[in-house]
Amino acid sequence: MLNIILVGPPGSGKGTQAERMIQKYGFMSIALGALLRQQIAENGANKARIEEYINSGQLVPDDLSFQIVTELVQAKPSNASLLFDGFPRTIVQAIFLDDCLVSYHAKIDGVIFLDVPDVHLLKRLKHRATIEARPDDQDDHKIKARMHIYQQETLPILNYYQDQNKLYRVDGTEAIDEVTKAIETIIDRLKL
Ligand code: AMP
Repeated sequence: MLNIILVGPPGSGKGTQAERMIQKYGFMSIALGALLRQQIAENGANKARIEEYINSGQLVPDDLSFQIVTELVQAKPSNASLLFDGFPRTIVQAIFLDDCLVSYHAKIDGVIFLDVPDVHLLKRLKHRATIEARPDDQDDHKIKARMHIYQQETLPILNYYQDQNKLYRVDGTEAIDEVTKAIETIIDRLKL
């Protein structure tokens, strides 16, 4: 059992790498952004509230995300390994996640940081906008809002995990396969 967090700015390739990690290692995925978009698509009870935040590039309120994460952690088979993609994104969420896992006798084993400088991100997100049609990729204003939140709220969690000796940095500007290899080296080492 190995619980991993994948963290990186919007457009850093988290989704692509998460898919590969799930394929190779059989992680159970907790991809909060995808789960929120699914609730919108399925007309879930909180659809209007989620849409308001997600479509403008803001973080959804913690009561919504905490509920989703708690339900999934609670439901996980005891031997399952979890892959958190896009959660936590703030220190408050990181502390919540640690507490939540402790209640289920689990912990975070490693945090993989996909490091991609800003100059690459805008280009990648504009490219993704033409493929996936995500409303939050569609204009510069929404993209900049997400980058700003990442810098203000998410970057501080790197220190939080560094202080716990759990942080691993990967150069996310490398080719996709190289990034995958670097991630696999980290996971294989953690599994030993
Ligand atoms: P992502 O698919 O990870 O790029 O996330 C897309 C959007 O989902 C974000 O811009 C937020 O609106 C929402 N979201 C994803 N993860 C979180 C989180 N940890 N906390 C709050 N909102 C989130």
